[in-house]
Amino acid sequence: MLDRASNLPDLPAEIARRRTFAIISHPDAGKTTLTEKFLLYGGAIQMAGQVRAKGEARRTRSDYMQMEKDRGISVSASAMSFDFASGDRNYRFNLVDTPGHSDFSEDTYRTLTAVDAAIMVIDGAKGVESQTRKLFEVCRLRDLPILTFCNKMDRESRDTFDIIDEIQENLAIDVTPASWPIGVGRDFLGCYDVLNDRLELMDRADRNKVAESIKIEGLDDPKLADHVPAHLLDQLREELEMAKELLPKFDPQAFLDGTLTPIWFGSAINSFGVKELMDGIGKYGPVPQPQSANPRQIGPDETKVMGFVFKVQANMDPKHRDRVAFVRLASGHFTRGMKLTHVRSKKPMTISAPVLFLASDRELAEEAWAGDIIGIPNHGQLRIGDTLTEGEALRVTGIPSFAPELLQNCRAGDPMKAKHLEKALMQFAEEGAAKVFKPNIGSGFIVGVVGALQFDVLASRIEMEYGLPVRFEPSQFTSARWVTGPKQAVEKFVAANKQHIAHDNDGDIVYMTRLQWDIDRIERDHPEVTLSATKEMM
Ligand code: GDP
Repeated sequence: MLDRASNLPDLPAEIARRRTFAIISHPDAGKTTLTEKFLLYGGAIQMAGQVRAKGEARRTRSDYMQMEKDRGISVSASAMSFDFASGDRNYRFNLVDTPGHSDFSEDTYRTLTAVDAAIMVIDGAKGVESQTRKLFEVCRLRDLPILTFCNKMDRESRDTFDIIDEIQENLAIDVTPASWPIGVGRDFLGCYDVLNDRLELMDRADRNKVAESIKIEGLDDPKLADHVPAHLLDQLREELEMAKELLPKFDPQAFLDGTLTPIWFGSAINSFGVKELMDGIGKYGPVPQPQSANPRQIGPDETKVMGFVFKVQANMDPKHRDRVAFVRLASGHFTRGMKLTHVRSKKPMTISAPVLFLASDRELAEEAWAGDIIGIPNHGQLRIGDTLTEGEALRVTGIPSFAPELLQNCRAGDPMKAKHLEKALMQFAEEGAAKVFKPNIGSGFIVGVVGALQFDVLASRIEMEYGLPVRFEPSQFTSARWVTGPKQAVEKFVAANKQHIAHDNDGDIVYMTRLQWDIDRIERDHPEVTLSATKEMM
């Protein structure tokens, strides 16, 4: 396990000020709104609403994006960088967007390998919802520190203790209040900032205004009565007294270990509670963390540049057929034009046009530091899981590929275009959007995905981006497993199971079946052969 620390000695100031995180939430909880406010406070945009507006302009570009819009899901992930001043510190925040739909869990998993912390947004009236729970479990696999934002407090919401209990019980994590709401719904006044002993009052008239902040000397400060009506003040004192007895105190190390989450209450749409949350990320959030790799771990304080690809997006601009590999820098100071070694092929690559994603635009990155996310346009050399270094042959680990849960045959509407179809499918396979298997016997391809919706997305993308109508049809197989083991044993196994064997787009051997029974039988009959549901990408 990685040793998470809030402060690593000797970390260059540029790296120490970086915070790289993602937001996880159930659709509609307010992720987009919160992102907008982050950018607003980061000075990256002038007016809230630009993220959405920009998003919509982009979406109209293709039917596939149109579909995404119709279904209210966000398929494409991106990263945004912005500065945020808090007290006398100036942070660089890198916010990595996670796809919100449950059908894209694999993509989400890999996205979360590129961050050091996550913000969990929940709706104050709904509490922990299904998608929140799934994403939380993914964060837990990596022991990511989690900050919780309980949104929509301007509406009727649940009792504060109920919300906290639900998180503790449902997600098995300790919760500590970073702030405490005063009043509910229409009577919601603001919050008591528990960590800083301040009163934060919400301004309902101006939604883009940062809340008024009043310094308070503890709960007995007479100033409180000037701002909070007596009945709400009594309730606040009582609740905080109870909270003190019932809930753990904030412990920075427990938070970094992922066993305790501080919760802030607010209303993203009213810009309320957002700045305090951002202050929290800056002050307590982890600096860029060590990255697991073979044969050794990579420290963010190493001077040599190392980075890894966690996402590839093809055809971001359909006119140019470009591909962008999203690279998380694990160490060092990167400058434009640097020559890095592509570890998988052992070939040098000059990174001449790296991009940074600043708020609503991408621009050339002249430099970047450990913790940053840069985009590297390329023609397919860079794949998910690839490592780039200044020479040392290190391979980042922990970026798995999952066996698909659904398999279908894919055929070109026009049989003459089978070759084009192969090219399109390979492209999507490298992007990580689907698994493509070529059976050893017969023609055609079997496409595997994690969620059914992905077939629709693929079909419409292949049509849009390659002008190829395609059909997906039920396959005789329902499961796929990667086959590994000593060469001779694998050859013997392949010869005995010809009807079930295919190769994936990397040329690795895959066994397909519709019966779990088959998988159990093989484990008995071919003890030297391993069938696995995940494969490290490299
Ligand atoms: P996402 O699906 O998680 O990205 O959610 P959005 O940010 O798009 O928000 C979903 C809906 O909730 C939108 O209609 C927002 O205007 C609304 N919303 C977001 N934050 C708040 C809030 O603090 N209070 C209220 N009342 N509505 C909010």
